[in-house]
Amino acid sequence: MLILLADAFTPDLPERLAEFGEVTSDMSRIPEAEVLIVRSKTRLDRAMLDKAASCRYIVRGGVGLDTIDAEYARSKGIIVDNTPEASSIAVAELAFAFMIAMPNHLVRADISMKEGKWLKKELERNELYGKTLGLIGIGRIGRELALRAKAFGMSVIAFDKYVLSSDIVKIVSFEEILACSDYISLHIPLIDETRGMIDASAISRMKNGVYLINTCRGQVVIEEDIADALKSGKIAGYATDVYSKEPPEGSPLFEAPNVLMTPHIGASTEENLLRLADCIVGRLRKYVGR
Ligand code: NAD
Repeated sequence: MLILLADAFTPDLPERLAEFGEVTSDMSRIPEAEVLIVRSKTRLDRAMLDKAASCRYIVRGGVGLDTIDAEYARSKGIIVDNTPEASSIAVAELAFAFMIAMPNHLVRADISMKEGKWLKKELERNELYGKTLGLIGIGRIGRELALRAKAFGMSVIAFDKYVLSSDIVKIVSFEEILACSDYISLHIPLIDETRGMIDASAISRMKNGVYLINTCRGQVVIEEDIADALKSGKIAGYATDVYSKEPPEGSPLFEAPNVLMTPHIGASTEENLLRLADCIVGRLRKYVGR
C-alpha cells in the first residue's frame, strides 16, 4: 500500500506510518497512492481526485472537509476522514490571544516603541472583564474559548443553529449575538448556509465599536464589508487567521485600519502537530484493520 503524505506534518510521521506501507511525499506518485494524507494546503478537487486513480482512503489532518470535494470522492468509493478532535485547544488559544491583543494594542505598542515613540495617552487599553463575548458556533473550539473567556470574567453567549442548550453558556438568537456582544468570535464550518454570513447587513446590527475575531474560514465574512466597517469605526478591530483567498493577496483588509492578521496558523502549535500525528496513525490503524 502506498501512502502519500501531501502536506507538512511532524518529521517522525513518515517513519510511524511505515508500519502500514510505503510512505512518500512525492506528489507525482498520486496515481499509485491508496491513502492520501493532507492538511489545508493540498486541495483535493475533482481534477486532483481524478488523478488519484488508486485512492481508497483520504485523511485530512484538521477540522472540516471544505478543502476536499468529499461528495465526489465518496462517489468514487473513497472513504473520507478528518481529525476534528485534535485542534480545538490550539485554535481557541489563538482566538483568545486575538481577544487580548486587540484592546491592549499590543502590536501597535510594540511597533511604536521600536520606532522610538512613547504613546502612553494614545494607547489607552480596555479590559475584557465584564464584557460580553458572543460566539457564533459552540462546537469544540467555541466551547474551549468560552471556558477561557469566563475565566477572565466575561459574560459569554452563543448562537448555534444546531445547539439548543449548553452547560457553560447562554444560548441566544443570532440577532441577540449581533445586538449584545462587545466581542464576536466565529466558530462555524464553511458551508453554503454560512458563506457570507457576516456581511454589511449583519454588521449594521452589531454594537458600535465591536471587535470581531475570525479563526474559522475567510469566506464566512464578506471582507469588503468588514474593511468598510473598520474604516467607519463601526467595527473597532478585526483579528483574523483566515481569508477568502489564501494567501490574501490584494485583500481589502490591507487598506483598512485595526486589522490583526496571522497566516492561517490556528492549528499550528507544536502540541497540536503531535496530536494530529497521533490521530492519523490511529486512523490508519483502523483503516488497515477494516
Ligand atoms: P465543530 O463542528 O465542533 O463546531 C461547529 C459548530 O458550528 C457546531 O456546533 C455546529 O452546530 C455549528 N453550526 C453549523 N452550521 C451553523 C450555522 N449555520 N449557524 C450556526 N452554527 C452552525 O467544529 P470546531 O472544531 O469547533 O471548528 C469550527 C471551525 O473552525 C471548523 O469548521 C474550521 O473551519 C475552523 N478551523 C480553523 C482552524 C484554523 O487553523 N484557523 C483550525 C481548525 C478549525
